[in-house]
Amino acid sequence: MGNISADTLKSAIRDVPDFPKPGIVFKDITPILKNPALFRGAIDLLAAHHKGQSIAKIAVIDARGFLFGSALALVMNAGLVPIRKKGKLPFKTFEESYALEYGTATLSVHVDAFEKNEPVLLVDDLLATGGTAAASAHLIERAGGRVVGIDFLIELAFLKGREKLGTYPLFAPIVF
Ligand code: AMP
Repeated sequence: MGNISADTLKSAIRDVPDFPKPGIVFKDITPILKNPALFRGAIDLLAAHHKGQSIAKIAVIDARGFLFGSALALVMNAGLVPIRKKGKLPFKTFEESYALEYGTATLSVHVDAFEKNEPVLLVDDLLATGGTAAASAHLIERAGGRVVGIDFLIELAFLKGREKLGTYPLFAPIVF
């Protein structure tokens, strides 16, 4: 483990200006995904941070959180729970709406996704304003899970998303 540094991963991330709308600089992680050494390096960095920690489930956020979180779940021998955009999960769900810059978004999770009080790690690709992760953490708790950490590959620190995530232990190896 650990022969790819966070700096190496950081330099592989591609900035795409004005996507999906003017003024947003999109952090494109596809150059990491398409390179097996970098993809594995990213997963190893996250897994190393949780070495020895007891994690029953990894909850992953639609859609780019799925990519890193599912690989991490295999490596960590944890179960996988998708947190999906409203209307995608087939069984009974809890839903949580949160404010976006314009309008709102709604995320959902299956009501039986977690055992009561089991330790859950929440994973997404990137922390921006924190609204998505805060809503997801709340969903996990409503469904009976206990959020013991939130991992992002990337944190956009200037957006201060951490402030929305209270006292949850956060880990983000790449910071812009
Ligand atoms: P937020 O709720 O503001 O923290 O937004 C986080 C979600 O939006 C994550 O699922 C990210 O994938 C996505 N996101 C927000 N801003 C960016 C950005 N600049 N580049 C790539 N993804 C972003």
